[in-house]
Amino acid sequence: MAKKRGVDPAPVSRWQPGETVVLRYFKRGRPVGALPTRVVSSDGLALWLSPGTTVTWPAIGGRPVREIPIEERYRQPWRTTDRLWEGDGVLILGRPERAHSVWLFRDGGDFAGWYVNLEEPWRPCRVGFDTADHELDLWIDRDGSWRWKDEQELDALVKQGHFSPEQAAKIRAEGERVIAEWPFPTGWEDWRADPSWPVPRVPGDWQA
Ligand code: MG
Repeated sequence: MAKKRGVDPAPVSRWQPGETVVLRYFKRGRPVGALPTRVVSSDGLALWLSPGTTVTWPAIGGRPVREIPIEERYRQPWRTTDRLWEGDGVLILGRPERAHSVWLFRDGGDFAGWYVNLEEPWRPCRVGFDTADHELDLWIDRDGSWRWKDEQELDALVKQGHFSPEQAAKIRAEGERVIAEWPFPTGWEDWRADPSWPVPRVPGDWQA
């Protein structure tokens, strides 16, 4: 059942509640990440990433890229590795035409806070949506305190020429816009997944 939330109406999704939507992350034109999720809103943009989901994650030499030192992380081609999503599930809210999504995290069942993943606006694709991570993120604690995350990563991408200084400024400006707009709470903070739902899986041909 759809709930009203403090974000835009959503004309871009054709997906229905209960369907599996894969959020694909691209890097330099290649799909390097895939999160299989369950659609939980009638606008097709609230996606539940269940605990125990096998997610496809970018990797270098079989190691998740986050384990690779920043100086090396962007110099080598990214491949993929499969991992189990551990801990609590995450509710991901797509924001049509906006360069971010909002991730609602729980900790031991209690609402913990909002993670604003700065990324390219979602583009519909055969299996769900395509985007590309912008590295910089925001964490907003449930008490409303907030901070940037991964500023060093964005700096490294600029230094190594993957983003121009202008692109980095635009990425940061999107985060500043979210803080100025303050779409919190979203209306989904008390929402709970049905524990009987099956865990979505990435289709074998997700990279096609
Ligand atoms: Mg990010």
